[in-house]
Amino acid sequence: MSKIKRFATAINPFIYTVPVLYGFLKCFDFIIGVDSTLQIIWNKVREKLGDNLAYYNIGVLFLYPFIFYHLAILVFYIIVKVMERDKIKSMKLQTKDSEIETPENTRKAIINVLENYLAILVVMLVQFYFDNDFARARRDPVLPSFLEVMRDLILNMFIHEFAFYYAHRLFHTKWLYKYHKKHHEFKTPTILAAQYAGLADHIFAAYLPASIGIYILRMHIGTALLWLSTVNVTVIIGHMGYHLPFFIAGQFHDYHHLKFNANYSMYGLADVLHGTMKYSEVIENYEKTNEWLPYPINKKAE
Ligand SMILES: [Zn+2]
Ligand SMILES: [Zn+2]
Repeated sequence: MSKIKRFATAINPFIYTVPVLYGFLKCFDFIIGVDSTLQIIWNKVREKLGDNLAYYNIGVLFLYPFIFYHLAILVFYIIVKVMERDKIKSMKLQTKDSEIETPENTRKAIINVLENYLAILVVMLVQFYFDNDFARARRDPVLPSFLEVMRDLILNMFIHEFAFYYAHRLFHTKWLYKYHKKHHEFKTPTILAAQYAGLADHIFAAYLPASIGIYILRMHIGTALLWLSTVNVTVIIGHMGYHLPFFIAGQFHDYHHLKFNANYSMYGLADVLHGTMKYSEVIENYEKTNEWLPYPINKKAE
């Protein structure tokens, strides 16, 4: 059982959520007697929007993540508040700085996140202006198969992992740290500041590593939508300050905020390869969370 738990936290949740959702959809299609509900919806979308690249690029790669991120923040914020009420079961990772969510911090985090989204919109418009084959998200009339979706999601996880790791490590060098410092203002991560970052940091270390795979793999826009949902959830969980069973381990990125010199990656693999992975002595529910960590921890990190 503990192996299953470790596997669940070592990988992006899409590996098991997407097949489950697909199974439910297939049952639904069978009950209402259609081939594919999603294909019917996609046909209707294409009837309405035609083949205009701008609608799909701006809609799916900007507007959708913006809405999804804020809805997800709301859902996880409620989860955090519920967990805070139950101190015994709570899996709070750091408690030293429990008053981090001051009105002042909340306000500056919200404003910064909105500014960063605006900057991404500008990047997308520039990208659109220089419209070329590379910047075209695929929007074929026929939706990709389940296997193609899973293949693209898994491959993109590797692209994201290494693109993010190297970009993030560069931002930790003495030349570039000044651009990344803002994200590290919160030593104890808090959910509202999940995307709190300087502009250059947000564009080059967050946005580009997360979206470059969409173009490299020539992903269908529908797969891109799924991908961006999972990235948003992963980022939020890394900053929520709690460990959530069956989700990618929150303590991994939490420790990066505390110590700065370890756990630079998104999913752990690049850190394992480069010997920069460490786990935390700050986890106060150490015994309880240990079995949920992707790899067993035999000794505390220095
Ligand atoms: Zn962070
Ligand atoms: Zn960092």
